[in-house]
Amino acid sequence: MKTDEIRQRYLDFFKSKGHTVCTSDVLVPKWDPTVLFTPAGMNPFKDHFLGNVELEFTRATSSQKCLRTGDIENVGRTAYHHTFFEMLGNFSFGDYFKKDAIHWAWEFLVDKQWMGIDPERLTVTVYLDDDEASDIWHKEVGLPLDRIERLGEHDNFWPAGAPTDGPDGVCGPCSEIFFHPDDGPECEIWNLVFTQFNRSGDPPNNLSPLPSKNIDTGMGLERMAATLQGVETNFHIDSLLPIVHAAAEVCGIKYEANTDNGRRMRRITDHVRACTMAIHENVLPGKEKENYTVRRLLRRAVLQGYQIGLRDPFLAQLVPAVVDSLKVPYPELAQTVDSVQKAITNEENDFYHLIENNLRFVEQMIEDAKQSKATEIDAAEAARLFQTRGVPPELTSELAAEAELGFNWDNYQAEMARHGAASGTLVDGVMGNSGPIDEFKNKLKKTTFTGYDCTSGTATVLG
Ligand code: ATP
Ligand code: MG
Ligand code: MG
Ligand code: MG
Repeated sequence: MKTDEIRQRYLDFFKSKGHTVCTSDVLVPKWDPTVLFTPAGMNPFKDHFLGNVELEFTRATSSQKCLRTGDIENVGRTAYHHTFFEMLGNFSFGDYFKKDAIHWAWEFLVDKQWMGIDPERLTVTVYLDDDEASDIWHKEVGLPLDRIERLGEHDNFWPAGAPTDGPDGVCGPCSEIFFHPDDGPECEIWNLVFTQFNRSGDPPNNLSPLPSKNIDTGMGLERMAATLQGVETNFHIDSLLPIVHAAAEVCGIKYEANTDNGRRMRRITDHVRACTMAIHENVLPGKEKENYTVRRLLRRAVLQGYQIGLRDPFLAQLVPAVVDSLKVPYPELAQTVDSVQKAITNEENDFYHLIENNLRFVEQMIEDAKQSKATEIDAAEAARLFQTRGVPPELTSELAAEAELGFNWDNYQAEMARHGAASGTLVDGVMGNSGPIDEFKNKLKKTTFTGYDCTSGTATVLG
């Protein structure tokens, strides 16, 4: 089943269960002080969960564009992680709770009319003391107990660790559904969150019950497509493989999945997709916050090409493939192809110059490390190069990795902090408040926020 069809079936299924279909909210929610990028389908509905808005509907479903910088290192290495991806979700605001959420998830997954997955291939997890969810899975759905695992806060409380150690905001125990392919690792396809608490820091770790019990679920669209299409990685699904091949073509190589270059093509694919989506929303590569994330993603993608010998800008050529792969859910991408390509090419050119002017310094650093039989790059020297010549740490770390040397990001940041410099580190919020982002967004809100088209300030209703 094609990716576009899975998305549509999901929305149709939940529409048939009385849900209002909402369009994706933006990828970069400038009005939300807690996140740089939308990390999950529930984020546009935070105020609905908190009871801060008058509800026009109590059941909603959406396919939300998401970006998780926290997964950046996983991309290309694991089979199932992207930075940009689409999350399908169904939400209940004080309407149905665990019983319906679990029954409907199961029906959607195994019923031939919908996904038709072999139930024998599915297992679930529940939170340690969640007898209610376990009973529904076992006694009502009929799943044997040995396929229901009970896990702790890290896995089965969302956001991870929330009861004692997570970010503030709405949270609750969750139940995750895993698909087990013939070969390869199991794949977490769907997380059902039973949102019933608001966690706040006043007093610390205070979990207070929300005005009502809610449901928030998230299913990775690309993971579901990989499952149904029987391919070994998300990058081989119908909507992503053409970009992977286009990347290989502009790089002048043949795509072979299980090689270093194969991993590089997957990274380029992911990063150019994420950058296209962000730049489409007018978030250009830059020095701070979300702009810096875009710069970092772009540079990482360029470096993949650089390492196989490219010396000219190439990334922008992949934008049409990205736009084509997402033309069904986001036809508006076609209108910004030129400007997105221009922004990418400018940044690529700048980065090539930066590499040319500084390669010898980085190579010297690598040479020094080898001479002194160190296993990693000298973090102080890397920080100095950034401050004096603008050599970005991602360049240093990538070239170091190539030379089989480590790059200790913690030490690097400590060095930067010692000099009182911005670390250039990515911050990935889920729901929590993080001081610096907070301040930055609040400032933004006061000065440049001019309002967005959608009247509710959250998701726009399709009908
Ligand atoms: P994982 O453990 O695989 O990192 P997660 O537990 O962090 O996933 P959730 O926060 O539960 O993910 O998000 C809900 C769903 O979104 C997941 O079950 C998965 O299908 C999908 N998903 C999460 N992160 C990614 C990602 N980086 N790329 C693609 N899909 C993802
Ligand atoms: Mg994760
Ligand atoms: Mg998980
Ligand atoms: Mg999960």
